[in-house]
Amino acid sequence: MLENARKILKKYYGYENFRKGQEEIISSILNKKDTFAIMPTGAGKSICFQIPALLLEGLTIVISPLISLMKDQVDALDSIGIKATYVNSSLDAREVQERIDQAKNGEYKLLYVAPERLQSWEFCALLKTITISLVAVDEAHCVSQWGHDFRPSYRAITELINQLPNRPIVGAFTATATEQVKEDVVKLLSLKNENVYVTGFDRENLTFSVMRGMNKKDFIMNYIQDNKEEVGIIYASTRKEVESIYESLHRKGYAVGKYHAGLNPTERKESQEAFLYDDLKIIVATNAFGMGIDKSNVRYVIHYNIPKNMEAYYQEAGRAGRDGEPSECILLFAAQDILMQKFLMSQTYLSPEREKNEYKKLQLMVDYCHTTKCLRKYILEYFGEEKVVDTCGNCSTCNDDSELEDITIDAQKIFSCIYRMKERFGTSLVAQVLKGSKNKKVLQFGFNTLSTYGIMKEYTEKELKDRMNILIAEGYLGLTEGQYPIVKLQKKAGAVLKSQEKVLQKVQKKREKVVKDHTLFEILRVLRKDISTREKVPPYIIFADSTLREMGEYCPIDQESILRIKGVGEEKLRKYGDEFLRVIRAYVEENGIIGKEIKEEKEEKIPSHMITFNMYKEGKSLEEIAKEREVKILTINNHIIRCASEGLEVDLYDFIPKHYENIILEKIDEIGAEKLKPIKESLPEEVSYLAIQAVLCKYKIMG
Ligand code: ADP
Ligand code: ZN
Repeated sequence: MLENARKILKKYYGYENFRKGQEEIISSILNKKDTFAIMPTGAGKSICFQIPALLLEGLTIVISPLISLMKDQVDALDSIGIKATYVNSSLDAREVQERIDQAKNGEYKLLYVAPERLQSWEFCALLKTITISLVAVDEAHCVSQWGHDFRPSYRAITELINQLPNRPIVGAFTATATEQVKEDVVKLLSLKNENVYVTGFDRENLTFSVMRGMNKKDFIMNYIQDNKEEVGIIYASTRKEVESIYESLHRKGYAVGKYHAGLNPTERKESQEAFLYDDLKIIVATNAFGMGIDKSNVRYVIHYNIPKNMEAYYQEAGRAGRDGEPSECILLFAAQDILMQKFLMSQTYLSPEREKNEYKKLQLMVDYCHTTKCLRKYILEYFGEEKVVDTCGNCSTCNDDSELEDITIDAQKIFSCIYRMKERFGTSLVAQVLKGSKNKKVLQFGFNTLSTYGIMKEYTEKELKDRMNILIAEGYLGLTEGQYPIVKLQKKAGAVLKSQEKVLQKVQKKREKVVKDHTLFEILRVLRKDISTREKVPPYIIFADSTLREMGEYCPIDQESILRIKGVGEEKLRKYGDEFLRVIRAYVEENGIIGKEIKEEKEEKIPSHMITFNMYKEGKSLEEIAKEREVKILTINNHIIRCASEGLEVDLYDFIPKHYENIILEKIDEIGAEKLKPIKESLPEEVSYLAIQAVLCKYKIMG
């Protein structure tokens, strides 16, 4: 049974291996057990119900909370040759009827449905006429009021299941693992003797960072400047902030969009689409954005403000790097934002019990921003994982190579100024006094007579406010609640004023960016964009970034080798294979690149170059081998050179015309061995690429 699942994984999705948990979940469903799978965002839940859908008889109903998510998944399935459709409020009654009829005729394996539909008696009556083998509840936490996206209509799911003539297998999928939610899902979806799978919550490819008290705008501007080419999301907690960040980036000419509940539905839709199609690289948004965003190539998610709890944070941050490529999740912390979250909370009506719960969760979110522990460990333990290693080597705690700067004197000046101003003003006025401003308010209160007046002239007011924000973030200063927060000295500041303690501030070293050759990747990205425009589907549905990156790295030049690239299945090969191969071949020829053998993921498979080697040992010529294996001669040449370099018995003189050996060597000396093409061009026509490669290999010259 699993053998078939594996075949589907390869044939349709183009993946060689299952990820952690997928195999167990699929086989549990295929064994007809109710199954509850808890996996983090981006871990690959969809495959866990899509593959069983193909293997089980009859239809699989997928309950999915958002229209955009449904359409996206159906498009993605369509692109790999799997028959699926959806029913939601965007269709009229006739279209619904039509799709149901087609489903009845077995034209689809998967039918995506919005939960609200299930509240319609007529619709459920229609469903009763179809053989339904599996009901997969995506985002199952929506059934629980303890989750972060409670949807009352999810409660209708059980009713539907109870009405069906044959009880289907029920699968529930979510990324939320708190106890309350887990209990609710099992209870409210009436799972029977269910198997529960909680895969690790870790997302290894994500780097987590917290930045405290820094000037956030400056940080964003610098970060985007350094990562111009990348796709990212910036989350802020209010519309006003979204607008302001958007404006700053827009003014600089970046391809940026915005998204919040204050925009009309058309504007929102446009922003979202443009982002999905890579026309916008950056989107600045409130948390209204993202549910149902399956875009796989998001390279960074920056939180401009803290979210209300860790669940929300991990879900939003988890939208980075779904394709498994290294991506960054950065949280910018300012103490003022806690007040904002409390304010937002006070605006929603909650029962006292839930309110208490929400405050507790917010506190744990704040603790994340202050922890000296490995951030990944903090997150994983929050989600209930045990025996987590102490350091991950991939978060701002573990990677901390910052130097500490002693800012005690500055801190003392600031504290004593606040003290002398009787702790009755906000950071702006304190900064003005320290700067020695002749502002009306300063003079009116007589602050120009204070001993601290103008003692920090050398700084700008903005720099002084930035410093105070750091001291707030580190707990030396506190802010009162309200529209005009007042700075107050905290206990920690007293010890500093008495010179009993020092204040050390981290100075982040500028990170070196690793420069890699992205040329082919960029070329392929352009091709993908052209196809996307032509076929009106988002680029990532055609191929994920990770797939293009592998192509860029391994330069596959024939069907066999491109099929080994992760994310290239048979349907994609049929649809796009020729176009991509043509571009890669042109690039390879242009630059005289030696194709690299694609890593074999499965050990038991015989590596392709070894098959070539065995045939060579049988006495076949390279041309014959190429013909027999139906691959390009270039590939076979590369195989044989690789065998030789790995120390296998290959007589390189078969390929090097004797009288040219020295001439080739001289040219290599003269031109260098980085690229083959210039060497080839400087030699007579009859000297082949293979001859040059053979010489390089024989003298162990690295290209
Ligand atoms: P989730 O629903 O858990 O957030 P998805 O189902 O959207 O995650 O999967 C995230 C990404 O991982 C998708 O691009 C998907 O194609 C990819 N993926 C899933 N399973 C595998 C696998 N076994 N090997 C490689 N990539 C996978
Ligand atoms: Zn760490």
